[in-house]
Amino acid sequence: NAYVPAGNRYESMQYNRCGKSGIKLPAVSLGLWHNFGSIDTFENGRKIVRRAFDRGITHFDLANNYGPVPGSAEENFGNILKKDFGGNLRDELIISTKAGYHMWPGPYGEWGSRKNLLASLDQSLKRMQLDYVDIFYSHRPDPETPVEETMGALDTAVRQGKALYVGLSNYTAEQTKAALAALKSLGTPCLIHQPKYSMFERWVENGLLDVLESNGVGCIPFSPLAQGLLTDRYLHGIPDGSRASKPSGFLKAEQITQEKLDKITRLNAIAQQRGQSLAQMALSWLLKDRRITTVLIGASSVEQLDNNLGALANLRYTVEELEEIEGILK
Ligand code: NDP
Repeated sequence: NAYVPAGNRYESMQYNRCGKSGIKLPAVSLGLWHNFGSIDTFENGRKIVRRAFDRGITHFDLANNYGPVPGSAEENFGNILKKDFGGNLRDELIISTKAGYHMWPGPYGEWGSRKNLLASLDQSLKRMQLDYVDIFYSHRPDPETPVEETMGALDTAVRQGKALYVGLSNYTAEQTKAALAALKSLGTPCLIHQPKYSMFERWVENGLLDVLESNGVGCIPFSPLAQGLLTDRYLHGIPDGSRASKPSGFLKAEQITQEKLDKITRLNAIAQQRGQSLAQMALSWLLKDRRITTVLIGASSVEQLDNNLGALANLRYTVEELEEIEGILK
């Protein structure tokens, strides 16, 4: 089953410029946090990656610790690349990874030291069998390490040729300002910021998006579907095989409260009026803001991926729709 990428893969995707950089990213990017680990079915993950690329998704987001077990998503992705993306296809891909969360024992296995970031990047490259990644992130701010040291490590990764661009994840607006200043003084501008952002998680609207826009930095919201809550997945209980049903899933059944379910049900009705699935509405609601470069989705099947890509068919909202949505979310 040799993979031949779809010839029309660039025809229907929308590509948005990432901040004030030279890079454009697909409006939908695929993340490999869940569904691609050693506990998952390799061939299912492989199908999803192939389908994503066939539909114009050029950007794949990983981190050292994705799995479970930690590291196994990078290993599996490396094997998919090796099997299916030979020749010059690497040059059509933007591959991201990150360091900062716990990865190995001892004081250097997490957080933001130069030691952690550069050793972790070397491990990630080995697991993915790559010479370089396109984007290397500081996965979380480290309250105990000077931001200059963490940003210095990102700059070094670029100068070593092991990363082309750098990014920040989970930094507050204030922390982002300090990090951007440090990066600028080193001559390595920040390409992108990856915060948690969805209809249910609005903190970025409180300053971060303004900081990014005024500094020409792109934004890639993670968990834009609130891990599946903002879809029809949990409308009628917790189905077998869903993230909330699995012990390894980061979405816990307790998080699916009656209050959340009421909101999801009402949002679903608006989505239907718009001729969209709830997942499609949740994604288009983020993409209507031009400061959002791309939404970083997860998917456990090709069907979910296809459904999510349908969001791009309708990114427009009337004032009435927006007000109605705010009324439900408040
Ligand atoms: P989402 O909010 O998109 O949730 C994805 C999950 O929602 C899927 O696994 C699936 O769950 C369900 N789903 C997706 N599409 C549909 C659909 N159309 N209909 C019904 N259910 C659907 O994102 P994730 O939480 O997975 O995060 C996405 C990516 O963001 C990660 O892979 C990672 O790359 C990044 N991330 C980064 C973090 C950071 O700190 N920087 C933290 C977390 C994520 P199910 O398994 O139930 O089918």
